[in-house]
Amino acid sequence: MNDKFKIICVACPKGCELDIERDGEKILVSNQGCKRGVEYAISEIKDPRRMVATTVRIVGGRHPLLPVYTAEPFPKGRIQELLHELRKITVKAPIKAGKVVFENSLGTGIAILASRDM
Ligand code: SF4
Repeated sequence: MNDKFKIICVACPKGCELDIERDGEKILVSNQGCKRGVEYAISEIKDPRRMVATTVRIVGGRHPLLPVYTAEPFPKGRIQELLHELRKITVKAPIKAGKVVFENSLGTGIAILASRDM
């Protein structure tokens, strides 16, 4: 089945409106301002990912919650599952920005890092 639709490339602030034509496994991208648009569209269709920023509980810190983020974009379809796992975690202060607070999240190999010192 041939499917045509548009997506906005967010790989840079220009925000090109990409025309996508999908025919089975074949994906044709047009109207891109540069080749990153093609890479973005294919990744968005085949394996959409997002950076995730959230908080985990911390004891002995100045605040009860520590801001954290994914070291790499995380599979979009598993973000709720990740947030559920992170709700179970409690870390101990002191902690430095960039420290790994959770390794190999859901078996993806993606670490969760502290966003700030606490
Ligand atoms: S296609 Fe290229 S120029 Fe257009 S928004 Fe994406 S990265 Fe920017």
